Amino acid sequence: MEHIKTEILIVGGGGAACRAAIAAADQGSKVLMVLKGTVGHSGATTHECCEIAGFNVPGCGDPCDTEETYYQDIMAAAMGMADPELVEILVRNAKPRFEELRKWGVSPAVQDGREIIMKGCYSNYRRGYTIPGHGGPIVAALLAQIKQRDVALMEHTMVVDLVCKEGRCCGAVVIGQDGVLRAVEAGAVILATGGASQVFLQNLNPADVSGDGYSLAYDHGAALKNMEFMQAGIGFFHPVKSLFNTYLWAGFPELKNAEGEPFLGRYLPQGITEKDVMLEHCKHFPFSSRDISRYLEIALQKEINAGGGDEHACLPVRFGHFVPEYIAGLKFDADLKDL
Ligand SMILES: Cc1cc2nc3c(=O)[nH]c(=O)nc-3n(C[C@H](O)[C@H](O)[C@H](O)COP(=O)(O)OP(=O)(O)OC[C@H]3O[C@@H](n4cnc5c(N)ncnc54)[C@H](O)[C@@H]3O)c2cc1C
Repeated sequence: MEHIKTEILIVGGGGAACRAAIAAADQGSKVLMVLKGTVGHSGATTHECCEIAGFNVPGCGDPCDTEETYYQDIMAAAMGMADPELVEILVRNAKPRFEELRKWGVSPAVQDGREIIMKGCYSNYRRGYTIPGHGGPIVAALLAQIKQRDVALMEHTMVVDLVCKEGRCCGAVVIGQDGVLRAVEAGAVILATGGASQVFLQNLNPADVSGDGYSLAYDHGAALKNMEFMQAGIGFFHPVKSLFNTYLWAGFPELKNAEGEPFLGRYLPQGITEKDVMLEHCKHFPFSSRDISRYLEIALQKEINAGGGDEHACLPVRFGHFVPEYIAGLKFDADLKDL
C-alpha cells in the first residue's frame, strides 16, 4: 500500500477543517487535508440550502449585550444540557473569530447602509450578523489563507478507517477516485467530517455529510455523546431544497395533504388554532417542545406517516395569498419586528 507521511492529518474540507488547517499550519506543522469533495464545494458549510448564514457576536447589536449575556442565553435555552466549558469557548471566540474573518474578506449583509444584525432564536439581544451565500464566503476566505500556508490537499478522497496504536490515533486509510487504498501516517488526526444528516431519508445536507467521523471514531473506541441532539426542522424538498424560514409562518401558508384536504386542525389540541401554532413557530427554528410550536411539526409528520404525503413523502404548501398588500397588512409579534 502506498504510504504518505504528514504531521497533522485533517479529515474534511468544510469550515471546521479549513480553520483547523490554518491553526495547525500557523503552529509550524506540515498539514494534509483529506476530503470527499473539493474545498469550497463540499460539506454543509458551503451547501446552498440556505441563502444566509447567521453568525452571533455578542455586543454587535446592543451595547448591553456581553459575552456573559450571550452565555446566559445559550445556557437558558439548553436547560442544563449544554457543556458549560464548550459554551464558554464559543462565547469567548465569537468576536475575535468574526473579526478575523472580516479581515480575511468576509462581509456581513448590509441594508440601507447598515450591517444587518438579527435577533436569533432564544436570544435576548440582537447579535446575529448575516452572511449572504451561507458559509460559501467563509470557506472561500479560509481557502485563500490555506493557499498561503504549508497545507496539502487530497480532494475526492475518502477516509475509510483510522489507524490506532497504543491508544493513539496515528493515521488513516484513504481511498481516492482511482480506487487505490493509501495509508497516511500522521502525528495527530483531526476529524472534521461534519454531521450525519444522511441517516435521515429527508434532510437538507449534501451527500457527503454522512456521519463518517462518528462511525470511524466509534469503531476505534471513542465514546460519542449528545447523539440525540440532531437539529430537525421543516424544509422545502421539491422542486427546490431549502430551509422553511420561520417568518413564512407569519403569513399563514396554506397546508393541505396530497389529496388537497386541510389536515392541521385534526392534530391540534382543543383550544389551539392553526394560526396560534404558526405564530408561535415564527419565533424559532426548529420547533420547541416547550411551547405549542411543537404541534405544527408533529402534525406534519403524523400526516406524512398516515399516508397524506405525495410521491416524495412531502406535503404541498401554497403561498398564493402572499401578495405585497397581504404582507403589508400582516401583524408580526415583537420578536419578529427585531429581525
Ligand atoms: C440549511 C442549513 C442552514 C444552516 N444555517 C446555519 C447558520 O445560519 N449558522 C450556523 O452557524 N450554522 C448553520 N448551519 C450549520 C452549519 O452549516 C454546520 O454546522 C457547519 O457548516 C459544519 O461545518 P463542518 O466543517 O463541521 O462540516 P461540513 O461543512 O459538513 O464539512 C464536512 C466535510 O467532511 C468531509 N467528509 C465527510 N466524511 C468524510 C470522509 N469519510 N473522508 C473524507 N472527508 C469526509 C466532507 O466532504 C466535507 O468536506 C446550517 C446548516 C444547514 C444544512
